[in-house]
Amino acid sequence: MTYRNTKQRKDVYDVLKGLDRHLTADQVMEELKKNDRQVGLATVYRNLHHLHENNMIGKVLKDGVALYDGNPEPHDHLHCRMCGKIFDVPKILNEENIKAIEDEKGFSVEEYFTTFEGVCNDCKK
Ligand SMILES: [Zn+2]
Ligand SMILES: [Zn+2]
Repeated sequence: MTYRNTKQRKDVYDVLKGLDRHLTADQVMEELKKNDRQVGLATVYRNLHHLHENNMIGKVLKDGVALYDGNPEPHDHLHCRMCGKIFDVPKILNEENIKAIEDEKGFSVEEYFTTFEGVCNDCKK
């Protein structure tokens, strides 16, 4: 049982790790299927959640849908509205800014996602 869980988690991790892409849980499951790994969506979600909790992968919300990110380092995103590609960029908001917002509003920030909408270089051509 434990072996199986560990194996599935590694399969899920391997899908994201090698890719410079941001995938939904459904897309992760599709990738697993392509590699002959039959894993249910609930299992994929559970493993993605676990990997994210352990800072092994990143997460970004787009239109309310979670995209999982092979890059676990804190970073922001550029989203091209023409081709839909997502690009990683260094983080713009820093901890001090967030602390200031929390103090001002009396709000506890648990997570946040910064995505810049626009048009990428390829689509401009
Ligand atoms: Zn584009
Ligand atoms: Zn990213």
